[in-house]
Amino acid sequence: MQQPLETIFQNQKANYKAVGAPSADIRIQQLKRLKDCIQKYELLIFQALADDLGKSKFEAAVTEVYFIYSEIDFAIKHLRQWVLPKRAKSTLSSLFAKHRITYQPKGICLIIAPWNYPFQLTMGPLISALSAGNRVMIKPSEYSIHTSNIILKILTTAFDPSSVYCALGNQDISTALLELPFDHIFFTGSTQVGQIVMRAAAKHLSSVTLELGGKSPVLIGQDTDLQKAAEKIAWGKLLNAGQTCIAPDYILIQKDQEAQFIHYFQTAVAHFIYSPSGAMNRDSYAKIITPKHLSRLHQLIDDACTQGARIAWKGAGDSADTFAPTLLQNVPPESRIMQEEIFGPILPIITYDTLEEAIKFIQDRPKPLALYLFSNSIKMTDHVLKNVSSGGACVNDVILHVSNPHLPFGGVNQSGTGSSHGYFGFKTFSHERAVMYQSNFAFSKLIYPPYSDKSSLL
Ligand code: NAD
Repeated sequence: MQQPLETIFQNQKANYKAVGAPSADIRIQQLKRLKDCIQKYELLIFQALADDLGKSKFEAAVTEVYFIYSEIDFAIKHLRQWVLPKRAKSTLSSLFAKHRITYQPKGICLIIAPWNYPFQLTMGPLISALSAGNRVMIKPSEYSIHTSNIILKILTTAFDPSSVYCALGNQDISTALLELPFDHIFFTGSTQVGQIVMRAAAKHLSSVTLELGGKSPVLIGQDTDLQKAAEKIAWGKLLNAGQTCIAPDYILIQKDQEAQFIHYFQTAVAHFIYSPSGAMNRDSYAKIITPKHLSRLHQLIDDACTQGARIAWKGAGDSADTFAPTLLQNVPPESRIMQEEIFGPILPIITYDTLEEAIKFIQDRPKPLALYLFSNSIKMTDHVLKNVSSGGACVNDVILHVSNPHLPFGGVNQSGTGSSHGYFGFKTFSHERAVMYQSNFAFSKLIYPPYSDKSSLL
């Protein structure tokens, strides 16, 4: 019989108190065990990702499973360095003291994951949490159920529930978990649920990392090689059929480039996912997670078209579980599709006259998770980066900034708070504690009262 979540939480807490923070050796052993277990179930993970999202083995390997192998290898390689206390300089008032920044595990952490990269976004934060020496309770998404089941199998094989526990279920389980006084909550999902998580965390003053979504714009400059840009954008938009938190959400382009862009985009898409006969190659194109999500995409288009938008191009291949790539023109900024994160293979094209107008368009909206800019002008690039806030930015490409573990990954305000990946993920799950080791030759007495005869020191 399942133990109540409260009992599991208390067991983790008691166990952590009894044993203390695990050594770097133990953390590395945990990570190796996790990797071995993932490797053991690798074929089942690929099958689960195909069942949930129609991901091809190649796409699943690159964006989920191998991504996680490299994250584990990176942590194992650097962990002994990460855990070392870092020196901090002394000041005049504490000249002979030693100062260190030490990294303590936060303690018992909660990870809540979404369905779009269900394996990567559950395992990635777990790797960081374990690297930092924490106990973890983890809730994968209820929508990607095949992947969630295999995650459960991996985690119950690799770990005792007193160190890692996986709870399957829907938002009711999240709600129950959010009642518990976790030391840290790492949430990946929508901005709306992020607000719920932050409110729940406030009750216990748990620290939070929110990896949220939003509309990531692509700003195309006049001097851009449109063919290359369109190809990169098409790849980024079609990846997981647009169900990617940092997918290019909409295009800002000058009117005289629009027709060319549409042509090159169509050509790239044809090359990527259609056979010469025009049929869609399902091996290269994911499905939409549920019929409910699919019908939302149709509604977004209907709604935009009712308000004056025009379908500039739509590929073949709409089906009961796929949505064909679609380009929209003349899209009113107040339409739903320009208000909500699209999260599907629809790309609205918005035209601008001046760069300042394009910048203002982005500035007037919630801060995006990613900002994409295509330009060969350093002056323009610097100007845009300086004036537009975003979680991350990628110049002359899309998506790929997420793949470098030396870079922090995360949002800003509406697109999230805190960061993940590599050392940044380790720090997220650690408390950076300031420690001062006072010397016997301290000048502290100088600041003790009585103060009456000390004013001359000022
Ligand atoms: P979601 O917010 O609906 O759900 C995420 C998780 O929260 C799921 O496990 C779900 O069970 C749980 N949940 C849902 N409603 C809840 C509630 N009321 N209370 C508590 N928990 C609740 O998100 P989703 O649809 O699974 O994922 C899509 C969203 O995630 C998009 O907005 C996307 O941009 C974002 N996302 C962000 C990142 C990132 O790294 N920033 C990565 C992937 C996805």
